[in-house]
Amino acid sequence: MTNFKLGIEYAKDQDLHDPLAHYRKKFHIPKNSEGDEWLYFTGNSLGLQPKETKNHIKQELDDWANLGVEGHFEAKNPWMPYHEFLTETMAQIVGAKPIEVVIMNTLTTNLHLLMVSFYQPTKLKHKILIESDAFPSDRYAVETQLKFHGFDPSDSLIEWSPRKGETLLNIEDLESILESQGEEIALLLIGGVNYYTGQYLDLKKISQLGRRKGCKVGIDLAHGVGNIQPNLHESGVDFAAWCTYKYMNSGPGSLGGIFVHERYANDQTLKRFAGWWSQNKATRFDMRQPLDITPGAEGWQLSNPPILSMAAIKASLELFNEVGMNALIKKSRLLTGYLEYLILELNNKDISIITPTDPEQRGCQLSIQVKNANKSLHTKLTEAHVITDWRTPDVIRCAPVPFYNSFKDVFKMVEKLKNILNA
Ligand SMILES: *Cc1c(COP(=O)(O)O)cnc(C)c1O
Repeated sequence: MTNFKLGIEYAKDQDLHDPLAHYRKKFHIPKNSEGDEWLYFTGNSLGLQPKETKNHIKQELDDWANLGVEGHFEAKNPWMPYHEFLTETMAQIVGAKPIEVVIMNTLTTNLHLLMVSFYQPTKLKHKILIESDAFPSDRYAVETQLKFHGFDPSDSLIEWSPRKGETLLNIEDLESILESQGEEIALLLIGGVNYYTGQYLDLKKISQLGRRKGCKVGIDLAHGVGNIQPNLHESGVDFAAWCTYKYMNSGPGSLGGIFVHERYANDQTLKRFAGWWSQNKATRFDMRQPLDITPGAEGWQLSNPPILSMAAIKASLELFNEVGMNALIKKSRLLTGYLEYLILELNNKDISIITPTDPEQRGCQLSIQVKNANKSLHTKLTEAHVITDWRTPDVIRCAPVPFYNSFKDVFKMVEKLKNILNA
């Protein structure tokens, strides 16, 4: 345990010795009308804009203006292979091989496309298991996949829930569900880091438990990517999908990414939906060739991608590439540990933290449960320009992001929280 200390001097000193402190200047921090920077703790929902993003997008606008269609091959960053410029760094961030990763579409769309391949129910093995507090979009996606295949979610959708009176998931409970119903379960689709509690699950263990029972295992990494190191390849999961507008700082609604384990890289028998971007690059523009799926994750692409969104992702990935996940996670653990320490020091009975205390079981987000679901605490924080988010029924999510949040941010945030609680 780090020896955190109370008082602003400690925060200032930590910032002074923070090797990543200068990255804050590379982001636009929103300000109030007096010009004071907000205390922004919502990078888990929409990451802040890197200052470099504008230049990256402008480059593509200029190349389009000056080159028209020739930009596909002649642009500074040719649009034809543009997605390839993103793959290597993206793969490192999620602990995958480049052949296992591609940037394409948006998250929920990708979950559906991946389920086309990895949810192949039979009469006996047709159930899907999700965590009980799955993100609504994921739940709607699996419910409609079940219905699409003629199954009734009330029979075929299985929930992994926390035990009575608890808020976090216990892997032993997953184990017993798989023991009793594993033969009927076709797919596990689990949020790697839960959006509500911030709990980071043991992906390797989930993968082993599921695959041992012949289930496919998919992970939603929306709250994991750029936050924790999921080591996807090593974990052995079959597939994963994520968005890039949360911790990946690539702009509202920006494209998502997928991972498909290398074991499927050359599997042409998997069912899938295809488009011209799934086609082998050598013959993609012959147009009259029969479908010949390109190897690896790229074979799940359908369309030529929106370059302006890709440019924003490229700008962000360059920062990630420079810093690396190890350094980010190192700072993240300190920063979140510090936030946790300061909140616990408040010793206030109206709030409690439901996120795991073990740094191995969480990323940067802390979920603060508010007594009696008193939403006014969140409203008052917002009025004080402390940007967090409220999730029903009773949680304030608060994510100090190592790229741009400082120890001073955390200190000031808890001071404001204290004042509001004591008022
Ligand atoms: C943010 C988030 C989504 C959002 O899906 P989009 O398709 O990008 O709108 C879905 N699932 C989870 C778990 C999320 O955290």
